[in-house]
Amino acid sequence: MTVPQEPRPTVSAPDDLFLPDPGSVLQLRDVRVRRGGQEILSGIDWTVREGERWVVMGPNGAGKSTLLQIAAARVFPTSGDVGILDEVLGAVDVSELRTRIGLSSAQLAAQVPADETVQDAVITASYGITGTWREEYEEDDRARALGLVAQWGLSRLAQRRFGTLSEGERKRVLIARALMTDPELMLLDEPAAGLDLGGREALVSQLTELAEDDAAPALVLVTHHLEEVPPGFTHALLLQQGAVVAAGPIDQTLTQEHLSDAFGVRLQVRRAEGRFTAVAA
Ligand code: ADP
Ligand code: MG
Repeated sequence: MTVPQEPRPTVSAPDDLFLPDPGSVLQLRDVRVRRGGQEILSGIDWTVREGERWVVMGPNGAGKSTLLQIAAARVFPTSGDVGILDEVLGAVDVSELRTRIGLSSAQLAAQVPADETVQDAVITASYGITGTWREEYEEDDRARALGLVAQWGLSRLAQRRFGTLSEGERKRVLIARALMTDPELMLLDEPAAGLDLGGREALVSQLTELAEDDAAPALVLVTHHLEEVPPGFTHALLLQQGAVVAAGPIDQTLTQEHLSDAFGVRLQVRRAEGRFTAVAA
């Protein structure tokens, strides 16, 4: 006699269980951000792996900074999953996670007190703060801060007040600061914005050196200028109106077609000696 059987319940992982891929330093799955009734990021899937150097491009308002703020564990998505350095956003102490991420952005620059010295603006990153208070530093911290100050050409400015620096000097302070905690992931939001041609070229060459340094962390650089893409960057993500137009190895992504799509202009794109240029076709 056969007894009719209930179908056996299948044991499977719940749909919402999200485990970032091993070897990924950043992984977004179907990430959405809604603000003021508008979707500013819609269904972003993106994986950054160890050793990769990514550039994120797109026109003003495309959602680049919002995407970077998520990668920095400073903004939570409205929905979707985010894995950062083997942790999952929403299930981790973000203040600890943030010390493993180097960040340079205009918002951060605005938080550095004008009377902070260059050296202090760099060293305070150890505590994830932007103004010295009563914290104490080890000799090692001081040595590291001074080393970074030197590496970014700021030695003669070490005791200068942040508020008295030129735009180019400020940008370099922020990058030195972003490296202070020896981060595993480094995020740069428009580091060349506001620089003159000489300042931009100097920064591009320093970022090229960083990109070529095997000991450097995974890098993500946001820009809307093709001319600012440093040689040595390996991957690109193109955003338009909160959605990915193209993503992958840089040669296959920063093409005339994809860039024209993303910027809504017919562009002629050239690449010479690792540098990109674009003009309207
Ligand atoms: P990008 O860095 O590419 O210029 P952002 O990520 O800064 O773009 O912004 C993407 C879009 O989202 C813009 O249209 C911006 O006005 C909008 N936005 C950003 N933050 C908010 C917010 N808090 N409330 C409403 N809209 C926002
Ligand atoms: Mg922006």
